[in-house]
Amino acid sequence: MEMPKVSGCSVTDCAYNTNRACHALAITVGEDPDDPTCDTFFEADTHGGVKDQTAGVGACKAYECEYNEDFECQASGIEVGMNGNQPDCLTFKMKH
Ligand code: SF4
Repeated sequence: MEMPKVSGCSVTDCAYNTNRACHALAITVGEDPDDPTCDTFFEADTHGGVKDQTAGVGACKAYECEYNEDFECQASGIEVGMNGNQPDCLTFKMKH
């Protein structure tokens, strides 16, 4: 399978963010099963990552999400943004 891409990320304070794109090789999502925070987020004086690549979702621990199968994300792509004071996967959809 292909890693789903981070289609967009509006958390411009993150060290991996340039022009609202995530340039980590891959991110990890999820703190708790129903809390899809971006675990890879951190702040630094400079912004890095691999500038000609867009991050994939390497792992997702938010297994209460409809798109989560065996702790991996099966969405076609995800959006990341602030939700309150936390950077979150905005594509998260609670399982019924
Ligand atoms: S869409 Fe769901 S499974 Fe995919 S990264 Fe977001 S929270 Fe995880």
